[in-house]
Amino acid sequence: NPLKRKLALDNDNALPGVPSDSGVKVVVRMRPLCLDKDEGDCIVHKTSSDSLSINDHSFTFDSVADTNATQALDIFELVGAPLVENCLAGFNSSVFAYGQTGSGKTYTMWGPANALSEDNLSNDQQGLAPRVFERLFTRIDEEQTNHSDKQLKYQCHCSFLEIYNEQITDLLDPNQRNLPIREDVKSGVYVENLTEEHVCTMKDVLWLLIKGLSNRRVGATSINSESSRSHTVFTCVVESCYKSTSDGISRFKTSNINLVDLAGSERQKLTGAAGDRLKEAGNINRSLSQLGNLINILAEVSQTGKQRHIPYRDSRLTFLLQESLGGNAKLAMVCAISPAQSCRSETFSTLRFAQRAKAIKNKAVVNET
Ligand code: ADP
Repeated sequence: NPLKRKLALDNDNALPGVPSDSGVKVVVRMRPLCLDKDEGDCIVHKTSSDSLSINDHSFTFDSVADTNATQALDIFELVGAPLVENCLAGFNSSVFAYGQTGSGKTYTMWGPANALSEDNLSNDQQGLAPRVFERLFTRIDEEQTNHSDKQLKYQCHCSFLEIYNEQITDLLDPNQRNLPIREDVKSGVYVENLTEEHVCTMKDVLWLLIKGLSNRRVGATSINSESSRSHTVFTCVVESCYKSTSDGISRFKTSNINLVDLAGSERQKLTGAAGDRLKEAGNINRSLSQLGNLINILAEVSQTGKQRHIPYRDSRLTFLLQESLGGNAKLAMVCAISPAQSCRSETFSTLRFAQRAKAIKNKAVVNET
């Protein structure tokens, strides 16, 4: 539906090279109570399409998704569809999933494990990632077909990495560990030697997602054996070349899609953790607490207009994702929460983080030459 797509694009008047202020889109998603665990009562209630209440406090975001929200109609249409349109328009586009362990980040970003399989393409539980790439390739086909002179060509490359214990591992080739981050004028910030796979279809991407996710590390401590202690970043670089038949000039657009599943935001209790686990807890705190610091600083800069040094390089996560944070990208955050009484304090902490993120303004630019 072209009208819907036009509406989905956040800023379709953008001119190449001219930065436009772009607010961070914040969607809070509440998972169902887990019936086989003793989680206590449900204390979070959606009060309108963009508000919720928890105890006597109310919060407003761009959108609130409760347990009735579906992967396809709600989360994908709110976050995934605009991301694809923004990317095709030439904007770098990122989605971060933030929240405590067990709040639904993985479910939202990738879907439950059994939904990601090549035999299961139409599974209604599929998360954002497979849906985004299904739409991306459909739209690329449409765009190429609409140019009857066949002068529009797209190329896509994907990479998948994990930041664990402040070290970067290539999830498409897990023997490549501790990869360095580099920065130069031509390429910007990048991870050296990271595998990049050329992709042409949704199935190509699905295969990379399945492969990469199976290579992820999940730490086990005596406190929280299920906890995912790593940050995962799936990146797709989309390049297009259009050669105009009228003036013969070629125009190139490049934009990145970053899908980021963050480690659990809960405060790491150090009881029972020693050696590597203790170091790991500290380092995971470093990346997440640095993300929290940056969000505070960027929210203040956006609100007051005062210039401040932004310490992107203080953690791998913020160094790598600096364009998404206050820079040249459209950013959406899905903040996942549990509705349970037993998660009250972590839920408040996620909602406060989400409120600060909402205050940030990025400067997105159409990357065209
Ligand atoms: P996280 O990645 O934040 O640790 P998960 O995505 O693994 O959390 O979710 C924890 C559990 O809750 C999983 O069993 C998942 O399938 C389930 N779950 C999460 N969100 C939803 C949802 N919106 N609807 C149904 N089940 C959900």
